Amino acid sequence: CGIVGYIGSSVKASEHQALDVLMEGLRRLEYRGYDSAGVATVAGGAVQSRKRSGKLVNLVEAVEQAPLDPASVGIGHTRWATHGGPTDENAHPHLGDGGKLAVIHNGIIENFSVLRRRLVADGHVFDSQTDTEVAAKLIGELFAGSAAGDLTEAMRLAANELQGAFTLLAVHADAPDRVVAARRNSPLVVGLGEGENFLGSDVSGFIDFTREAVELEQDQVVTITADAVQIIGFDGEPAQGRRFYVDWDASA
Ligand code: GLU
Repeated sequence: CGIVGYIGSSVKASEHQALDVLMEGLRRLEYRGYDSAGVATVAGGAVQSRKRSGKLVNLVEAVEQAPLDPASVGIGHTRWATHGGPTDENAHPHLGDGGKLAVIHNGIIENFSVLRRRLVADGHVFDSQTDTEVAAKLIGELFAGSAAGDLTEAMRLAANELQGAFTLLAVHADAPDRVVAARRNSPLVVGLGEGENFLGSDVSGFIDFTREAVELEQDQVVTITADAVQIIGFDGEPAQGRRFYVDWDASA
């Protein structure tokens, strides 16, 4: 339902902790309605994830009980369940590649049951009933296989196999300098910072931090690092989004 992503320069150099930026973005996105929430950050060569059904306060409690190490990269999600009930297990992020990859998703992956059967036959074990986890396992398989450690390429190849509507964000423990996202029939906006960049399902996800934005076009993959934003089409060709300035009043 609601999506945020963040990357800053490094834990020491950046004034922003990923978790704070993500939680602020999720609070801004609450107006959309949701039944669960979750975050994942990358620190010390590992993905750390917390997720809970119910309101954001449940997620805040989970993070207080089991704090995350400081991190400068992460993703956050509020879920409106379509496949699988609103449980902790079905909340996003979903993991792939042996827990080294975390993925969040807005929308519906229509061919998920065909893909899920294939992935189960390949030996993947699923932790949830969601359509989303299929994307997590698929991107993970591609990252470990034909995309050879290239998270952007793994996302692009996966996006070409997925049908339906999706905004997908991924972080990987072995690619800690980036957040990669893809969109088809579901919104995605980049927020441009200085030494940091943002992603949101809409600009509310980062309005407290920047008003310089780029709206992705259909069927594009975007890779954000602390200092760069790179967009390609699902065909792999360099592409561009639509640059704009957010001029509405967000003081509420
Ligand atoms: N279809 C996914 C799920 O049920 C994502 C729903 C959403 O957009 O929040 O988990």
